[in-house]
Formats: sequence, C-alpha cells, structure tokens
Amino acid sequence: MITIPDITLNDGHRFAGLGLGTYNLRGEEGIDAIVAAIESGYRVIDTAVNYENEAEVGEAVRRSSVDRDDLIVTTKVPGRHHGRDEVIASAQESLERLGLERIDLYLIHWPNSRVDKYVDTFRGMLDLRERGLVRSLGVSNFTAPMLERVIAETGATPAVNQVELHPYFPQAELRAFHAEHGIRTESWSPLARRSELLTEPVLGELAEAHGVTPTQIVLRWHVQLGSTPIPKSADPERQRENADVFGFSLRDDEVAAISALERGRLWDGNPDTHEEF
Ligand code: NAP
Repeated sequence: MITIPDITLNDGHRFAGLGLGTYNLRGEEGIDAIVAAIESGYRVIDTAVNYENEAEVGEAVRRSSVDRDDLIVTTKVPGRHHGRDEVIASAQESLERLGLERIDLYLIHWPNSRVDKYVDTFRGMLDLRERGLVRSLGVSNFTAPMLERVIAETGATPAVNQVELHPYFPQAELRAFHAEHGIRTESWSPLARRSELLTEPVLGELAEAHGVTPTQIVLRWHVQLGSTPIPKSADPERQRENADVFGFSLRDDEVAAISALERGRLWDGNPDTHEEF
C-alpha cells in the first residue's frame, strides 16, 4: 500500500496530498476501480452530482476494507441547485445516493456568476456544516474576485478551491492568492486528460533522470506546487503509479521547466463565462 501524506485544511480537518478523480467511473466496473484505489492507499475520492456516480462512490466506500472515517469523500452541488435552501436539499439527496451520513468536503461545482447565487449557496453550506451533514466547505472553478466576495459576504474562507491545473495551465496567480488566504488548491484534469501532455520531451527527459514515468513527473510537480492533484484512472496499476510520487523530488529548475509548458486551458472552461447546471 502507498502512503499518501495528509495535509491539514484551514478548518483543521484532514485532507490529502493526492486523491482520486472519478469522472466516468460508473457501474460495477466503476465500483471495482474505486475500491482498488482505496485499497492501494487513496483516501480522497472526488465525485459530483453531475458525474452520476455518487451511488458507486458510496458503495466502494462500504466495500473497501478502510475505515469510513479515514476516507474523505468530496461531492459538489450543481448549478441547478444554487441557493441557500436548494443546496440543503441537494446535499441531502447526495447523502442519500452516497448512503453516507456525512460529506467530508462539499464544493460549489461552478460559480455560474451570471445567476449570482453562489454567495447564498455558500451560506446554505455553512448551515449544512452547522447541522453536521458536511465537514469541510470549498468551491471549484472560482476566481480570486469570486473568492474575495465569498469571504467578504459570509465571513468564512473556503478550505479548498478545485480548479483546472496542469503543466499547460499552471495557474500561478490564483495559487499565490490561495496561499495568501490559506485556501488549499486542488488540481482537476491534473494530467491534462492525458492529451499529448505525457509525450512532451521535457517530461520524458525528467522521467529518465529520476527513474520514474512522465505521469509521475507531472503529479510530483503538482505536489511541489502545493496542490492536491486528483488524477482519474480506471486501472489499478495506473492508480498505483499515479499515487507513488512521494519518494522523489524535483529541483526548483525542474519544476520551472515543467511550468514553462504553459499554453492555456484545455477547453474553454473559463469561470467568468462558462456555466454548468
Ligand atoms: P485526468 O485525471 O487529467 O486524466 C484522466 C485520463 O488520463 C484518463 O483517460 C486516464 O485513463 C488517463 N490516465 C490516468 N493515469 C494514467 C497513467 N498513469 N498513464 C497514462 N494515462 C493515464 O483528467 P480528468 O478525469 O478530467 O480529471 C480528474 C478528475 O478531476 C475528474 O475525474 C474529476 O473528478 C475532476 N474534475 C473536476 C472538474 C470540475 O469542474 N471541478 C472538471 C474536470 C474534472 P485510464 O482511466 O484508462 O487510466
């Protein structure tokens, strides 16, 4: 089993240095894949209402040999459930589908700022925390001005902002804002959905120098940026490869060489304009 180091969020709760993405892991095969990841050492499991696999995630939690309380189950409120009362109903539905008594980390999936309900949604999440139904509160796809607004209007600082982050889109400014406010960065599509990233020559060279794979170089880069990557893999061997990145380090110039691959977002997931419901 691989030991993925814990980290502590700004609310004092435990999180991890790397987690499992579950987009497209569904049905019995999905459950098997999630159980395999838990058995090999993953503790943070990332789902969302819109991935339509909360039931699979809950079932995997029950089938695994790991204590429920050692796992950090993350789900997300979709755009169509924004609003103070709506988010409470949505969380209750998620808990039913998960078959769990608590969501460990609850995120606003997209800000949908034209609808302008994310602050109220976060207020509802504070109510949910008060009632013990969720433990840590965070957001996803929020920009610095959106985070500033949540902090100013609710008096609470999200524990996590899960954003697009990979060597093609390193998000230096947003990460600096997170660091200043004690917000944990979590990287979605950390492998850039595989794309052509893993064949970039610089990654091949670094992989050879460190005796690891290009994928491990990318995931180690996330770890050293201070972000929690959540690579998705359906394959137990690739899951283990992805988690096994805590036994070597990159030098600062190597981290910089990977960040120099920057060229922009994978698709037009700009939080100022993109909406999801
Ligand atoms: P990703 O993790 O960057 O890439 C997943 C792809 O890489 C899959 O095709 C996977 O195939 C492959 N892969 C994984 N490990 C590999 C390895 N060691 N070698 C070669 N290929 C490998 O992309 P993602 O699924 O888009 O992002 C990860 C998670 O972030 C999602 O699952 C989801 O939980 C979350 N997410 C959140 C948002 C948001 O708006 N908050 C948006 C997108 C994603 P196999 O499965 O066959 O290994």
